[in-house]
Amino acid sequence: MTRESLPKKNIRKEIYVTAVIFAVIFLAMAFFLFNFVKSDSKEFIYNSYNSRFSVFADDVVRGNIYTADGRVIAKTSKDEDGKEIRVYPDERLFCHEVGYVGKGMAGLEAGYSFELLKSHITLQDQINNSLTGQKSPGDSLYTTLDYDAQKAAFEGLGLYEGAVVAIDPDAGKIIAMVSKPDYDPNTIAKYWDDINDSSKNSSVLLNRATNGVYPPGSTFKIVTTLAYLRANNGNSDYSFNCKGKLDIDDYTIHCSSNKQHGSEDLLSAFSNSCNSAYASIGVNLDRDEFVKTAEDLYFNQKLPTLLDNTKKSVFGIDSTTKESIVAQTAIGQGETSVSPLHMCMLVSAIANDGELMEPYLADRIESEEGEIISQTEAVSAGNIMSSSEVALLNSYMEAVVMDGTAGKVDFGDLSVYGKTGTAEYSENKKLTHSWFVGYAKDDDGKKLAIAVIMEGAGYGSKYAAPLAAKVFNAYFQE
Ligand SMILES: [Zn+2]
Repeated sequence: MTRESLPKKNIRKEIYVTAVIFAVIFLAMAFFLFNFVKSDSKEFIYNSYNSRFSVFADDVVRGNIYTADGRVIAKTSKDEDGKEIRVYPDERLFCHEVGYVGKGMAGLEAGYSFELLKSHITLQDQINNSLTGQKSPGDSLYTTLDYDAQKAAFEGLGLYEGAVVAIDPDAGKIIAMVSKPDYDPNTIAKYWDDINDSSKNSSVLLNRATNGVYPPGSTFKIVTTLAYLRANNGNSDYSFNCKGKLDIDDYTIHCSSNKQHGSEDLLSAFSNSCNSAYASIGVNLDRDEFVKTAEDLYFNQKLPTLLDNTKKSVFGIDSTTKESIVAQTAIGQGETSVSPLHMCMLVSAIANDGELMEPYLADRIESEEGEIISQTEAVSAGNIMSSSEVALLNSYMEAVVMDGTAGKVDFGDLSVYGKTGTAEYSENKKLTHSWFVGYAKDDDGKKLAIAVIMEGAGYGSKYAAPLAAKVFNAYFQE
């Protein structure tokens, strides 16, 4: 042993110890990072929202948003200075669902920002991109929306304000959702001050499909019919002699154009949309039972849906309410107001044999390479109607379309079940919203439920029902 060999041995030992320490630190860091990315990251990111999103955006290009049939409805491009910008190729068509990025975020852009800024391309590709200073492509969001149905709803609504909601009743997938007035998410930043100028009373950011509440008019007769059936243990026996109007206390209920419908049973009262018959049914119902039926159908309740931020519908009568008000409420005026989404959910449950599926818009997240990262599972809110109630409502809603108030609307070869509504909303009762709610079914059993409201348009049979027919055509044609 020379004196020189001793320090050499020590140096070797020190190198070994140092290497082990670094290896342990490296493994600990890798473990922490792995856990962070795999499990805790979403909560962590959302806790410190703004700064962390921008950190991800340094490495990942925000992913695309697609319709169910594969059309790109939001993507990231570069402007002439090479700066990343968000582009919405269809401008206003999907504005209330997709939302925007720019002045903060809204819609699916806000709800799925984390997922769109994650990349699930291979680790090797991510490292290569990182080494060459390139960003990795973010994951994509596929919505439940159908391009053609959405376009038909958007164009059919035209210059009217209002909303259209269409749902696949078997799963709760939202197939179309349009609200007007609307905005172009491409230019939201430019017009931001105008949009938010309270003196201009702009409501373009409001999604009327989920957050607008309207008098339901005669579409509410679906609820009153269920209340009558429940009060009579499912027995639909009923007779009424309509004289075109009905006095209740100091108030007169009129049938449309004061038409005398004569002798009616429940089916003909429903398909004629007889106000006198339904006002009479309403005042004769036990008040608490009427309220219970409405609340069992999610009036005065938060709607069961995977969407956040929806407005409650109102059923505002109780044991102290005057009979004349109850009579008006039973025909969808008075103390009730609904969102188009809620009405669509009610007919969707009828189309699905009484079972209500919770509506949703985001179907799945896919990586750039087409691998499914996460998939929304349909959620049932349970049965809100019995099979026998559904069978009766189906026959009544079929009569509306065959020879009732929507008898003149051309629904093509589809089997359609519906209810029209013409809802008064002005003091002098001259102004009316045009409603249609219902569903269509083709020979293969494919179904689509819909609610249409056109503000101030007039008769439901003349405006909203033909628009529903256009959306059905667009959807079933494929
Ligand atoms: Zn009548």
